[in-house]
Amino acid sequence: RPLTSNDLIEEHRICVCVRARPLNKKELTTKDLEVITIPSKDVVMVHEPKQKVDLTRYLENQTFRFDYAFDECSTNEMIYRFTAQPLVETIFERGMATCFAYGQTGSGKTHTMGGDFSGKNQDCAKGIYALSARDVFVMIKKPNYKKLDLQIFATFFEIYSGKVFDLLNRKTKLRVLEDGKQQVQVVGLQEKEVKCTEDVLKLIEIGNSCRTSGQTSANAHSSRSHAVFQIILRRRGKMHGKFSLIDLAGNERGADTSSADRQTRLEGAEINKSLLALKECIRALGRNKPHTPFRASKLTQVLRDSFIGENSRTCMIATISPGMASCENTLNTLRYANRVKEF
Ligand code: ADP
Ligand code: MG
Repeated sequence: RPLTSNDLIEEHRICVCVRARPLNKKELTTKDLEVITIPSKDVVMVHEPKQKVDLTRYLENQTFRFDYAFDECSTNEMIYRFTAQPLVETIFERGMATCFAYGQTGSGKTHTMGGDFSGKNQDCAKGIYALSARDVFVMIKKPNYKKLDLQIFATFFEIYSGKVFDLLNRKTKLRVLEDGKQQVQVVGLQEKEVKCTEDVLKLIEIGNSCRTSGQTSANAHSSRSHAVFQIILRRRGKMHGKFSLIDLAGNERGADTSSADRQTRLEGAEINKSLLALKECIRALGRNKPHTPFRASKLTQVLRDSFIGENSRTCMIATISPGMASCENTLNTLRYANRVKEF
């Protein structure tokens, strides 16, 4: 049964969902087997290949339950409706919202968040960045919000190996400062005013090309960095609400910690640290715990103000590859996503 608006869970502070992409060309060519089934709107089953003592192979089923589970037929628009769209209202109501895409490299994080402008996938060119922006411009015209005279700004930056780079300003390296009142500031971060969805699309394009420039192999750099796209509402210069949309670094980096290359090892360790800190910060938000370990990583430090306050909401989209070759990473992703909401 397809998801309908009746299935939308309105009251969530934390929403966790899973999205499986279709098998890609390479997986089809290598005849990789599909190990994922999504039997209902909130269940993911993994058929994990196992070996018996007598070395015969069998499949062990593992079941995970989430707020929503989306199969390979779902579109960005549909994922958006159940995850980020309900959070657009949050920022108009003076809240802080975050939406994360979490998963292994190649599982569909960027496809989901940034969209696909390559022309390969015409129907889902727009990702969650663009769809959220579109609805911000719908919302701001509503009488209740129109009278607030809000201005809309966007930022786009990258966190790579614990350092912040401005994607809207030629990858300028920026400092992060915390003042006496524990306000975190990314010094000099470009905040561009946007007047319509097209303005936002231009910034996404500029940031994306900046993100991938100078890369040697296709996924090398972007899979090792977190990209943060923010939509900020201001009223008379003061922050009214903020929506942070994050395309996280690939979570398969655990293996890097044993790499021969020192830089690669350090990067892998940094990514692990930030993903662990992120999980703890979201869990703390769900429990209204006063102490949240923001300082454990640059990612959680710059998102500090989004993890506190009465009116903060988060959604996580865990993206998974359907093939047997990815089974171990997929199970790691599902376990992580499960823990985020398990109290
Ligand atoms: P990641 O950002 O997690 O490394 P990508 O978003 O770059 O992964 O996706 C890897 C490839 O798979 C891309 O070519 C992308 O177009 C394709 N892809 C990802 N998700 C889907 C999907 N749901 N439907 C069709 N193609 C997809
Ligand atoms: Mg990516």
